[in-house]
Amino acid sequence: MSSPTEPAHLMESLVSLAKRRGFIYASSEIYGGLNGFFDYGPLGVELKRNIRDCWWRDMVHRRDDVVGIETSIIMHPKVWEASGHVAGFTDPLVDCRVSKQRYRADQLFFSPVVIDGKTVGYVSALESENTAGELQTAAESFKRKKALQGALAPVVAKDMTEAREEEIVLIPSPATGEPGSLTPPRAFNMMFQTNVGAMSDASSVAYLRPETAQGMFVDFKNVVDTTRVKLPFGIAQIGKSFRNEITPRNFIFRSREFEQMEMEYFIHEDADWAKVHEEWIVWCETWLKSIGLPDSHLSRFTHPKEKLAFYSRGTVDIMFKYPFGVQELWGIAARGSYDLTQHANASGKPQELFDEASKKKFVPHVIEPAVGVDRIFLAVLAAGYAEEDVTDEKGNVEKRTVLRLSPRLAPVKVAVLPLLKNKEQLTNRAKALYAKLRRNYAVQYDDAAPSANATAGRTRPARRGA
Ligand code: ATP
Repeated sequence: MSSPTEPAHLMESLVSLAKRRGFIYASSEIYGGLNGFFDYGPLGVELKRNIRDCWWRDMVHRRDDVVGIETSIIMHPKVWEASGHVAGFTDPLVDCRVSKQRYRADQLFFSPVVIDGKTVGYVSALESENTAGELQTAAESFKRKKALQGALAPVVAKDMTEAREEEIVLIPSPATGEPGSLTPPRAFNMMFQTNVGAMSDASSVAYLRPETAQGMFVDFKNVVDTTRVKLPFGIAQIGKSFRNEITPRNFIFRSREFEQMEMEYFIHEDADWAKVHEEWIVWCETWLKSIGLPDSHLSRFTHPKEKLAFYSRGTVDIMFKYPFGVQELWGIAARGSYDLTQHANASGKPQELFDEASKKKFVPHVIEPAVGVDRIFLAVLAAGYAEEDVTDEKGNVEKRTVLRLSPRLAPVKVAVLPLLKNKEQLTNRAKALYAKLRRNYAVQYDDAAPSANATAGRTRPARRGA
């Protein structure tokens, strides 16, 4: 029988399973790891490859209106000036001067402590599933410690981007618990910088790409001129992206090096963009279900109009219920003609198409579904994880961990497990079968005792901690 695993416990179990079974290791672990970087082990790399392959097959091979490309990670620095990333790809950063900890201002919450209508101090808490609850507990503890009498008002949670100057000095740092050390928020650019060539000066500065999308925009004309694409059509890419996230967290959910699968779908400037946008949202939802993510864990978040970038017409995120809360998995944005126009202006090379009907040139508009492979990976692990109680022949109940993966994604498709190791007749046949199957499938052969050789994706019991 499967029993639902508590969310807090689930995350711990996932991280431990990922390590134990060779799905994910901390990067450079023998040196203590590097925050925000991960390695994929033998089973992890197969699962990840299957996610990418499924997406590529469905997005590129099975559609006749999408082509694929692969562009370089380091691009001309002018790309990032034109795209707006040099000036604006920032997160608000708050420093704690005492502990040297850094926080994303929009993830650090505070509230005044109000007793009998009077503000007597402030409390703070990092964003969590229960930020308001944590602030309330902190406010009660504040009142107790200071031996204050009177009626405590419910907390009002705000994040640090909303803090007034006079409040900042009164808000305690989460690291020290004391006020006075937090700085006002400042813009922190998340692009990793490097230098190209032997000279390390301003003229050689380049960036690791923070998204794959700009590759599709700067190669737009190349694709149009060298293939038979006709509007509407898409250009897709899978590749690594890098963001110097202030607070990488939740395992591989927010890391500093990650992989994206993005597609830019170009449409006529007069096309019904809202209809195409909706079609792509539905396509993405259907695709997520096709790889085994349950409908019950998926939802939509429509970005409020007033929070959209000026060029954006609409953005909808497909959210997933992760063990640490409902969070963005896939963003589907209607970006108008912003990117192509920016590159046309910055490079001096028009990015237009000719409209036969109106005999006029125009800049296509774009719908962009952008998703992270690692976020899908984590969603797949979280949705597939189950613990079961199994009773053996002697009536003893033991727990077993099962990872229920869609056959499309399972790292091992078939296992050949001869039950007797010493019986040559049996093992010879099993080895022959294994040799035959592995020509077409990812197959594992194992003639060790069944309980010791459990592998992810198998239905055979896997002992916890095995
Ligand atoms: P968030 O708001 O969570 O930082 P975002 O809106 O900045 O994400 P986009 O720029 O739209 O993300 O990137 C597209 C997709 O890339 C996201 O939906 C997510 O799946 C993935 N992604 C973005 N940042 C990261 C990261 N630091 N680690 C892993 N995946 C990421």
